[in-house]
Amino acid sequence: MEAEHQRQHLTDDLAEVVGLPDSCRCAKCGHEEPSTYEYKNTVYVVRDLDLWGQPSWLIFQPCFHRCSRCGHRQEHLAPFKRKKVMYTYRFEEYVLRMLIGSNEEEVAARLGISAETVALIVENQLKDDKQIDPARVIKHVGMDEISLLGKTKVIELRDGRIESLELDPSEFGFAGASIDQLGSGDAITNAALIRHILSGKEQGPRRDIVVLNAAAAIIVAGLVNDFQQAIPLAEYSIDDGKAMNCLETLIEVSNKG
Ligand SMILES: [Zn+2]
Repeated sequence: MEAEHQRQHLTDDLAEVVGLPDSCRCAKCGHEEPSTYEYKNTVYVVRDLDLWGQPSWLIFQPCFHRCSRCGHRQEHLAPFKRKKVMYTYRFEEYVLRMLIGSNEEEVAARLGISAETVALIVENQLKDDKQIDPARVIKHVGMDEISLLGKTKVIELRDGRIESLELDPSEFGFAGASIDQLGSGDAITNAALIRHILSGKEQGPRRDIVVLNAAAAIIVAGLVNDFQQAIPLAEYSIDDGKAMNCLETLIEVSNKG
């Protein structure tokens, strides 16, 4: 195993675990006192950022505090990784960045890790995303918007559970479209196109892609639970002129700003 190999050769080059708390409260008896750290004999090797395209590992000795009252050995989690995983937070973020424009299998193959590990990293990172209400988050992996060109993988975090599903536009009656049909021109052409779509005059793949992405936004906003319910709402807001009004307001506000 590669990590084993690194372990044998690099034990002299240990990373120092810094940023540990000054005091420790014993999990067993509740006694709180200034921390005194002892190091375990075991050396841990965890995957860190790739350097110049090569895998790198962080090697460290886990440390613990021994309670002076009851003798309980309390392990201290290294601040650069989460519990029970063999990679750093930096590595997790690196994996997420690599997923942009790629998929789990490709990223796994490039990094020499399993696709399950990639999926777990995404899952843990999603759970950490504290700015967004964790009860209702949808993130797309692989593409930054829902596409008509094929299935889109959607990772959904709802009520603390993660589900990975594939969204197939044809299930909702949307015909597939080629890049040519969706492709657009310069800023002025695009602006006219957006107005045309939001006015409800456009029918076809360009409108469909706007509807699908608006439906995703409606679900994320928590208005409804699934695409089945969200799509009619998105269509209605276009046909009713609400979407166009939103655009007008947006233009007004941005011009003032
Ligand atoms: Zn104790």
